[in-house]
Amino acid sequence: MNLLNADLHCHSVVSDGTLQPEMLAARAKANGVELWALTDHDEVDGQQRARDAALAQGLDYLSGTEISVSFAGVTVHIVGLGFDPADASLVDGLAATRGGRGERAHDMARELAKVGIHGAYDGALKYVGNPQLISRTHFARYIVETGKCADTSEVFRHYLAEGKPGFVPHKWASLGDAVRWITDAGGLAVIAHPGRYRFTPTEEYALFSEFVGHGGRGVEVITGSHGPSDFQKYADTALEFGLLASRGSDFHSPGESRADLGTLPDLPGQLTPVWAELQHRVQRAG
Ligand code: AMP
Ligand code: MN
Ligand code: MN
Ligand code: MN
Repeated sequence: MNLLNADLHCHSVVSDGTLQPEMLAARAKANGVELWALTDHDEVDGQQRARDAALAQGLDYLSGTEISVSFAGVTVHIVGLGFDPADASLVDGLAATRGGRGERAHDMARELAKVGIHGAYDGALKYVGNPQLISRTHFARYIVETGKCADTSEVFRHYLAEGKPGFVPHKWASLGDAVRWITDAGGLAVIAHPGRYRFTPTEEYALFSEFVGHGGRGVEVITGSHGPSDFQKYADTALEFGLLASRGSDFHSPGESRADLGTLPDLPGQLTPVWAELQHRVQRAG
């Protein structure tokens, strides 16, 4: 069961990826993925297309999303899997979470202009596939286009990461709300790429215990954002908190993303995978 090639984290043009859901389904299948989920940021608009394309490819599918949360002043991502994408509270909660992105983007463009990057709002919009979902990634692609940076990760380092000139603090959903929207819609909530947050051990402990207290069930252990030491560390954390383990590339774009769909190491054997608990929610290709 742990050896299943499951990839339960990636992005399409419905958020900040560059491929259509159908292209991702085909790429997942070609790379040997056996169970797939599209997890666009704060959105479920691509779910029907992803599911239909997956089943047409002979690929089993779980619904997915990745919710932006503010916790202890830091942005944390919570992946939801296997929920009903039409659930009204979830749909409303995601719409509310997306709501502030337009104004934030104007604020980001204003801050970037102060350091000599002009026209960033319109520039970023050229890369946006969903008008409700303008993200830092779209700004990063525009800044690469201007020639100021060689690639998007350099843009984040110089301009868009917390504390850099184009970073505008933003209040996202609360941890409790995000976990409840997912859980009440019949799904399973998972802490995304915990190795990326710069928490002290005390803050990280608080995140995991509050997450479990709200009904959160899983943690990403194998993700494109983790190196081998994180694989080990969060395998231990999963066991410590009694959490199910997830695996996902966080693929956004060919040439931009470190990990491609379906190419990460297997989940360590001692862990229980999230898909063991989501069998009844899998849309089967047949
Ligand atoms: P936003 O939701 O608008 O704050 O954008 C967050 C997205 O920016 C993440 O989902 C990643 O796709 C991207 N991102 C964040 N940090 C980095 C980084 N250091 N390098 C490349 N992409 C990043
Ligand atoms: Mn992203
Ligand atoms: Mn994320
Ligand atoms: Mn992601």
